[in-house]
Amino acid sequence: MLKTVYLRFLSIIVLASIAVTVMISSLPISSDTCKCETSSDLDRQHEKLHSSFKESTKSLKPKLAVLVPFRDRFDELLRFAPHMSTFLTRQQIPFHIFVLNQNDRYRFNRASLINAGFMQVKDHYDYIAMHDVDLLPINDNLKYEYPAEGPLHISGPAFHPKYHYPTFIGGILLLRVEHYQRLNGMSNRYWGWGLEDDEFYVRIKEAGLEVFRPQNITTGPDNTFLHNHDRLHRRRDTTKCYNQREVTRRRDRETGLDTLLYSIKQRHELTLDGVPLTVLNINLECDKSQTPWCECDSKIETKTRVDSKKKV
Ligand code: UDP
Ligand code: MN
Repeated sequence: MLKTVYLRFLSIIVLASIAVTVMISSLPISSDTCKCETSSDLDRQHEKLHSSFKESTKSLKPKLAVLVPFRDRFDELLRFAPHMSTFLTRQQIPFHIFVLNQNDRYRFNRASLINAGFMQVKDHYDYIAMHDVDLLPINDNLKYEYPAEGPLHISGPAFHPKYHYPTFIGGILLLRVEHYQRLNGMSNRYWGWGLEDDEFYVRIKEAGLEVFRPQNITTGPDNTFLHNHDRLHRRRDTTKCYNQREVTRRRDRETGLDTLLYSIKQRHELTLDGVPLTVLNINLECDKSQTPWCECDSKIETKTRVDSKKKV
């Protein structure tokens, strides 16, 4: 009798423990056992994405990284990504778009953003396009081909909507990774709008590289590109302070890829109308002993605040 009771008790214990095990295993994973992504996980994912990008485009064609210097241009980006994807796919170019989003609070620095973007892509791609977000090519004869012999300036002065001087090199410029490295990239001294491209032109010339431009283009400044640039709402930051004007008129032999100070704060993989994009949130650092004009507005603002306080 005692034995039967004991056996019943034992079988209840066994059944109960099986039931508890089944219940626990069907519960959702609690937050403290969650395999949350760490930044090194993200790095690995990114690595995988890009190595698989290289492998998946089985062709032997060189791979293009489209580097887009960027801040506060969301509407332009919404047009840019689908347009460029259609345009480059028609040319069968293996490409990926990198939005180089300036995340710090200094004045916009197009050249340093391109330097930072280059550092991120140089081991995975064969050539880069430094590409304004508001300049959309509409002539299919503008070929974004591998610039084997030297920099290929897609938005040449004969077809750019706005700039027509012969040494103009801005807008859209393609370079082999090796050539950009050889030039030590662009100068890091250009905070605010303008002149960084003109300095880069001199670098190219001094390095003995020849600039190429698309041939057999029958369209002109009005019908080769769409310049999605609203002058009223997208004001250019042309302020000059300290000795900025004087310094930025000169060729810079000191700064470039090897002096760039930056960090990547986040990396986001997005899809925009089906187009994969990588957004890099970039924090540029400014050495104020070298380029105090990375913040010339704040000085004026402080003064205004003090003045307005006085009035009160
Ligand atoms: N840009 C940006 N945010 C800014 C200023 C410039 O994203 O606040 C980027 C954007 O890609 C733009 C490029 O830098 O197309 C060149 O600037 P902008 O169009 O003002 O110059 P421009 O048309 O006179 O060459
Ligand atoms: Mn523009």
